[in-house]
Amino acid sequence: MAKVEIYRVRWYDEKRLREVVERIFSPRKGFISRGDRVLIKPNMLAPSRPEKAVTTHPALVKVVAEKLLDLDARPAIADSPALSSAEKVGKLSGLRDVAEELGIPLLELDSPVEVKTRSFFRKVEVSRKIFEFDHIINLPKFKTHTQMVLTLAVKNMFGTVPGRLKAEWHVRASKYLDFARMLYSVFSVRPPLLNIMDGILAMEGNGPQNGNPYPLGFILASEDGLALDYVASRMVKAEKKVYLMEVARREGLLPEIVLGGEYRRVPEVDDFSLPSTTPLSPSLARRLLRRSLPKPKILPEKCTACGICQEACPTGSILKVGKEPKINYDTCISCFVCQEVCPFDSIQFTQGILRRLFQG
Ligand code: SF4
Ligand code: SF4
Repeated sequence: MAKVEIYRVRWYDEKRLREVVERIFSPRKGFISRGDRVLIKPNMLAPSRPEKAVTTHPALVKVVAEKLLDLDARPAIADSPALSSAEKVGKLSGLRDVAEELGIPLLELDSPVEVKTRSFFRKVEVSRKIFEFDHIINLPKFKTHTQMVLTLAVKNMFGTVPGRLKAEWHVRASKYLDFARMLYSVFSVRPPLLNIMDGILAMEGNGPQNGNPYPLGFILASEDGLALDYVASRMVKAEKKVYLMEVARREGLLPEIVLGGEYRRVPEVDDFSLPSTTPLSPSLARRLLRRSLPKPKILPEKCTACGICQEACPTGSILKVGKEPKINYDTCISCFVCQEVCPFDSIQFTQGILRRLFQG
């Protein structure tokens, strides 16, 4: 039985955040001991200001870190952004200021080490630094994700895979369900002690970098990341669309869930937009339409030819012709990485004709 707590938190008011974090920590007496090293894992996808809702808000990270310091633990903030550094992301997101103000380290999760898992993918590479800590507290951001539909607690731990090694997984696990299985394998290497989700200013639309901020107004918390993701998906009526949830259903991974905090029923949000390229639910329909995967298209009027997508594409399908990036559709695996990393929102995904017909 997993407990998922939901709290109404309309904005990043530190007084309210402290009250909620206190309510989350207080029944868990003794789960963190004096002197414990605790890795705080926010979402640090890319250099971006807090109001863009790309990264976990610094106010929540600060309040959690302060609580850990109160408990005489030794927290550090750490992540491995795919195409940047923790230092650069920390600077713009406000997380470096938090680290400096509290006198705690801001670390890059580098130094890969291969580890065995008992999950779907037997071996994965993660940063060896995650084993230098006694506990992990996961602070995901509630966001849409063009490939996986939502990125929540389980997906946030993909940040423990150092930098560019992440891109390789798009080739090794190119089918969306396999990618979701891989995410669960990485998550299971060192499941966090606690997951506290920043769903105050969430992201809707074509996330995780180019979606729109959405004032959802909730904090969710659970010791079980998968249960937390299920409840968060239910909140925006996406539980049947999120690939990870499909894997959880097929493999019987979801525990029974009891709600706590301020809600006894999952609050439902009606107008939250999922990605426009949200894949169809994993069903016969999708199997029939496999050939009709969404394809990336570069918008020349927005593209600055910065080359970031070319660098990130795991199959080398983006080539420069003159100054312009061009996509080789023969090798493209529709992994959405280019859209995820483009800082100028210059890549759109188009639907195949079969799929359009099916969606009517
Ligand atoms: S990342 Fe975006 S702006 Fe940069 S080259 Fe690719 S499409 Fe153009
Ligand atoms: S072009 Fe974009 S969608 Fe296609 S393989 Fe490269 S990164 Fe993935």
